[in-house]
Amino acid sequence: MNKLSIRDLELSGRRVFIRVDFNVPLDNGKVAEDTRVRETIPTLRFAIERGARLVLASHLGRPKGKRDPKYTLKPVAARLSELIGMPVDFAADCVGADAESKSCALRDGGILLLENVRYHPEEEANDENFSRQLASLCDQLFVCDAFGSAHRAHASVVGITKFVKQAAAGLLMEKELEYLGKAVTNPERPFVAILGGAKVSDKIEVVQNLMRLADGMLIGGAMAYTFLKSQGLPVGKSLVENDKLELAGDLLSQTSARNFQFRLPVDHVIAQSPASADTRTVDVANTPADWMGLDIGPKTIAQFRQDISTARTIVWNGPMGMFERPAFAAGTLAIARAVAEATAKGATTIVGGGDSVAAVEEAGVADKISHISTGGGASLEFLAGRELPGVEALTKKI
Ligand code: ADP
Ligand code: MG
Repeated sequence: MNKLSIRDLELSGRRVFIRVDFNVPLDNGKVAEDTRVRETIPTLRFAIERGARLVLASHLGRPKGKRDPKYTLKPVAARLSELIGMPVDFAADCVGADAESKSCALRDGGILLLENVRYHPEEEANDENFSRQLASLCDQLFVCDAFGSAHRAHASVVGITKFVKQAAAGLLMEKELEYLGKAVTNPERPFVAILGGAKVSDKIEVVQNLMRLADGMLIGGAMAYTFLKSQGLPVGKSLVENDKLELAGDLLSQTSARNFQFRLPVDHVIAQSPASADTRTVDVANTPADWMGLDIGPKTIAQFRQDISTARTIVWNGPMGMFERPAFAAGTLAIARAVAEATAKGATTIVGGGDSVAAVEEAGVADKISHISTGGGASLEFLAGRELPGVEALTKKI
């Protein structure tokens, strides 16, 4: 990585502004699920142990530029304090006199959490004056550990970097950039991409970019049907994006020109509707007109498993079927296990995307994947080959 890391900073006795991702679900004034808070602890401890004074900022939900108690970070301060075992001060506004005096009152190793930055419309507008006010709460040191927000040019992610001397990646951010960065620049081969999920249109750029980089691509999920239909195969009532048929056909014909394996499902689990208990497993070529494909079938699983088992780098985004329903979860869970087995054999494996990560957790193999990417939209943009403004804005390492 050619950007500064928190490891490169002189932290002792200095106030450091750390942009974290504490965008957690709340329930009755309590944190309902604290994964995102726990994931930042290594970065926070790193800074605390070096005597930094921590000013933490995050967004939570979409309060649309207005103060809305539904989206307060106050309960997160309490949860963080429990997790880290020390007091966490809270400023009821992320800018202004109270935040300033509380940041100045910090001692070495002390923590202050600021209220939701999205209470101010200036946050999403990347307003310069607001960015300067945020920066005034630290001693010229900014750390971004919110990879999931790095694709947004907002004040607490991008604007603030103009008003500090050093802007560095936190440990979580650094890990994301290392894994995703290596996959797209210098992957160990064979590199196999697994893509699925609901829509081709959501991921067209990811497909195009990974087609350039990978040695093979396995496509499952609803997305596969646009590709299958473009090849003239019967898809019944499966989800198809008819306006993407030509594009899908073009992509498939491009790949046949070089040494690249493009795999589509050969069989699938079908039903007349997602809610139906009456399911069948058939070859794609035999799909009846009024049935829809909701999971990959056993022949496809076997083929995909084979490709996965010989890969040295695997990037997976998008479930293989409507895995939220047990009747259509087998394909996705089998792929999750196959990716975990490949990891055990030394492959570097990366899973990104909210639903894909949920599937890996459901399969009980989350700890057997090299890297679970926390930033849904940001990891997709990264894999699509786009520059992330929140990464670009960090200080170059010299
Ligand atoms: P991620 O969040 O991992 O990026 P997506 O949001 O793109 O994944 O896709 C997940 C959704 O795709 C799930 O809700 C799943 O039910 C749906 N899906 C996958 N396969 C099918 C299918 N064959 N038919 C309908 N929906 C599907
Ligand atoms: Mg999703």
